[in-house]
Amino acid sequence: MYHGETIDICAVLREIETAARSHGWCSELFHETGGFKLIALRRSPLSIRNPQSAIRIYISAGIHGDEPAGPLAVLRLLQKNRWPENAEIFLLPCLNPAGFTLNRRENAGGIDLNRDYRNPQSDEVRAHIAWLERQPRFDLYLCLHEDWESRGFYLYEQNPDNRPSLAEKINAAVREICPIDESESIEGRAAHRGIIRPGIKPHERPDWPEAFYLIANKSRQGYTLEAPSDFPLATRVNALVAGVNAAVATQDSAPHLF
Ligand SMILES: [Zn+2]
Repeated sequence: MYHGETIDICAVLREIETAARSHGWCSELFHETGGFKLIALRRSPLSIRNPQSAIRIYISAGIHGDEPAGPLAVLRLLQKNRWPENAEIFLLPCLNPAGFTLNRRENAGGIDLNRDYRNPQSDEVRAHIAWLERQPRFDLYLCLHEDWESRGFYLYEQNPDNRPSLAEKINAAVREICPIDESESIEGRAAHRGIIRPGIKPHERPDWPEAFYLIANKSRQGYTLEAPSDFPLATRVNALVAGVNAAVATQDSAPHLF
C-alpha cells in the first residue's frame, strides 16, 4: 500500500514554533535559505538546583523531505511537552524544509543531506554543523526517519561504549502501536527484532549520515528511529512519538553520563 502523504511544512513549522513558545522553549534561527528557515529549539531543565544532573538529549527530524512523520512527531511531542524534569532538550524539527515542498528525499540542489556530514556540500548541513559545534555534548541523540521499504518499525543503535541499551525499551513501546520489522536482514544489515547494531567505522566511509557526525563528535549513544512508510501516517507518527518518549523516560533516573 502506497502512502505518499505530503505535508505543508511551513504550516507545520509555524505550529511547532507556536507550541514551543507556549511551553517556554527558546528558538534559534541558525540558517535561512531560499525562503526556508532552519531552527533549533531548546528546553532548559526544570530542576536547576543541581545543574550537574541535567541530561542533554538531542532530537532531529525532517532531514529527508519525503518522510513527513518526523516533523509531525516533533509537533506532537511539543504539544504534549512531557519531558523528564532534568532533561535539557535540543530539538531540530526539520533539517530539510525545501525537500518537503518538493516531496523528495534530497534538498533543492539534489543532495541527500543525510550523506553530507563528512565533507559537507550543502548549505543546510554546513549551517547545521556550525550550530552543533556551538553546543555542548549530548548524553543521547535521536534521529527520526521513515523507511519506504521496511515491513515495520526498526532502529539503528550506536553505543560504542556499551552503555545500558535503550533499544529494547524503545521497540517494546513502539510494538504496542506499530508492528516491528522482524526481518533478519534490513537494508542489507543483520537485524534482530527490529534492532540494527551496525558497528560503524566512520573513518572508513566517505558519505557520513548525521548519526556518524554525532557519534564521532557529539555523543556516545544514540538511535536512528525508522517508521515504516507502508503504514498510515498517523501510525508512523505515533510510533516515533512512542519511541522518543520511551528513550527519554529511561533517561529520567539514569546516572549522569558525562
Ligand atoms: Zn530518512
